[in-house]
Amino acid sequence: MLTLNSPQVVQETVLRWKREGKVAFVPTMGALHEGHLQLIRRAKHYGTRVIVSIFVNPLQFGPKEDLSKYPRPFEQDEAKLQELDVDMLFSPEPVDLYPPSFRTRVIPSLLTDHLCGKSRPGHFEGVATVCMKLFNITQADFAVFGEKDFQQLRVIQQMTADFNMPLTILPHPTVREEDGLALSSRNRYLSKEQRVAAASFPQALARARSRAIEDGSVTAGALLAQVRQDLTAAGIEPEYVDVASESDLQPVLPETYVAALSQPRIFAAARAGTTRLIDNWTLYSEQNETPS
Ligand code: AMP
Repeated sequence: MLTLNSPQVVQETVLRWKREGKVAFVPTMGALHEGHLQLIRRAKHYGTRVIVSIFVNPLQFGPKEDLSKYPRPFEQDEAKLQELDVDMLFSPEPVDLYPPSFRTRVIPSLLTDHLCGKSRPGHFEGVATVCMKLFNITQADFAVFGEKDFQQLRVIQQMTADFNMPLTILPHPTVREEDGLALSSRNRYLSKEQRVAAASFPQALARARSRAIEDGSVTAGALLAQVRQDLTAAGIEPEYVDVASESDLQPVLPETYVAALSQPRIFAAARAGTTRLIDNWTLYSEQNETPS
């Protein structure tokens, strides 16, 4: 496995690789867990070469967020990637991607008005900007993104469509612990008690999903009230809970019948102690949907 930090050297290397086949790419911020590893295994099915980036992107962190304390277990991450036989690890320093001369940003709109976009101003601008750079540096034909960060996935799909970018974004389902908690690099911050309580978060959303599938006359408001109640009872503090269609991510009014929506999903962010958790679940039966 090549470990590189220079965008120019990556570009030169990939230019040679692309004569022989396709390149699949998985961008990450490191502290790799089984969720990341599944994305990488998926990438291996699509690319003759696989590139993984590890970059804790300062542009997507707010001033009060956990940029400096974000976990960076680089050697362990490198060993995991080696074991998976990844072809290249791209791990630039902030100055490699944002030299003092850096000026341009990608500004997503509409999809970022609500959900995490509302509580994290500037976050998706940072995400879109770094992904634009990473896609241009790696010249990837495929990039795999987790549905755990569903709004991020939609922003990146929209950006690549809007800018006619020649790569395919592959969504990957959320990878979960046995009790349903979505794997996240931030879960390591949870105390034992908080970890137990955190399991109520996916369980509340899964309960809403079952109810939506079983009851064709349930409203978004009824589901949201139930989820908020479940979370509060478990000592998890909801930040937002919304129902929205996957296509536009605009939260619907409480009186909306969930069954009347196209591809409805429930989205939530909540805190267990100071740790912020996010999750989302489809509110339709995926087996009945035509695969896209
Ligand atoms: P991060 O390192 O948190 O920026 O995540 C890098 C990529 O891994 C993103 O596409 C995430 O959506 C994805 N990812 C993180 N956790 C999970 C998970 N539990 N299941 C599926 N994908 C995930």
